[in-house]
Amino acid sequence: MTNHHLKRKLDNLYKWIDAMEDNDTTMKCPDCDGDGLETVEVFKPQSPGRDVGEPYEELRHCERCDGSGTIEE
Ligand SMILES: [Zn+2]
Repeated sequence: MTNHHLKRKLDNLYKWIDAMEDNDTTMKCPDCDGDGLETVEVFKPQSPGRDVGEPYEELRHCERCDGSGTIEE
C-alpha cells in the first residue's frame, strides 16, 4: 500500500468519525441547563438570636450529569 492510498483511507476514517460525532446521543442536561451546576435553595441553619433561617441560593455540582452539562439521551 502506498502512502497515498493510506492517506485516502485515513481521510475516509476521519469523515466517518465526524459523522459519528454529529449523531451522538448526548443532550444538554435539563437540570443545570448545560452548566454542570444546579441552583439549589438552601436554608441557613438556625442560630441563637435567629428564629428562622433565611433561604438563599447556592450553586451545587449537578448530580444528574455529574458536572459535565450533558446527559445520555
Ligand atoms: Zn446537569
